[in-house]
Amino acid sequence: MDRLAIVVPCYNEEEVLKIASETLRGVLGDLIEKEKISKDSYILFVNDGSKDRTWQLIEEEHAAYPSMVFGLKLAGNVGHQFALTAGLLTAKDMCDISVSIDADLQDDVNVIESMVDSFHAGNDIVYGVRRERKTDTFFKRTTALAFYKVMKLMGVNSVYNHADFRLMSKRALQAFSEYGENNLYLRGMMPLIGYRTDSVYYDRKERVAGESKYPLKKMLALAFDGISSFSVKPISMILGMGFFIVFVSFLALLYALISYFTGHVVAGWTSLIISIWFLGGLQLLAIGLVGKYIGKIYVEVKHRPRYHIEKLLTDQTE
Ligand code: UDP
Ligand code: MG
Repeated sequence: MDRLAIVVPCYNEEEVLKIASETLRGVLGDLIEKEKISKDSYILFVNDGSKDRTWQLIEEEHAAYPSMVFGLKLAGNVGHQFALTAGLLTAKDMCDISVSIDADLQDDVNVIESMVDSFHAGNDIVYGVRRERKTDTFFKRTTALAFYKVMKLMGVNSVYNHADFRLMSKRALQAFSEYGENNLYLRGMMPLIGYRTDSVYYDRKERVAGESKYPLKKMLALAFDGISSFSVKPISMILGMGFFIVFVSFLALLYALISYFTGHVVAGWTSLIISIWFLGGLQLLAIGLVGKYIGKIYVEVKHRPRYHIEKLLTDQTE
């Protein structure tokens, strides 16, 4: 049977930790009883340098349920994406399936069962997808929508309305671990892995307690990280603009010459207007071109795995 690890990043979550632990233990117990996961399945709480009593509470939970609640303490606050990565990579060698979920239980724990079922049906990554955003504030809703739109425009492939509530199989974790990049945008990386994926749908609830650790500033930073670590499209846009302006400069040339010969111009205007357009276009073109090379260097530097093998058929195959 498969060992499930539920990975929970926690930053200043003292208000919700006990509730989260209790709820998730309930989920594990239920799945164990239904024989969908093995008895040694566990919850891994990752303390992301909390300033409150979060770690103490994790220790208490571990003491009370040593075989079900595990804890990982990071040395400082590294942010949600890194904390989650730390948890997943720690769980990688101690599980067959992982599910990542936020500590605040905004995501519906009841769909974890559907995720596990989907895994058993042959999917390596199962996305938890929010059906609607009724409980979010108007502000959060609109900014989130804008976020996905901009990401898409910039050429970043990610699942709409999916945060980091997700099941990953051991081999998906293995593949993920081969990405050494430091500009992390997890939900954009999953489609790169390439294994079979599925989605399960749920309604997102309000936080059980405490307040959001994702203010607008962090959200904007995440969006920028997402774009800048997945796409060199902004550079292509500059290059495109360069070509466009150079084209316009030829029109300007035509216009200026016509004006010159029809005699409607002040002395010096013709050469000035042509130079402005042409040089401007040339400069953008040059910057875009240099950018293209930087884009290539960027892609090389990431050193992403070039492929993941799903199956190999040889005479050794059983
Ligand atoms: N989190 C973290 N490190 C941080 C900020 C947040 O580990 O620096 C965790 C947090 O404890 C929670 C999850 O990331 O489990 C999502 O945060 P939150 O619920 O505050 O975000 P929101 O749901 O409001 O977008
Ligand atoms: Mg939340």
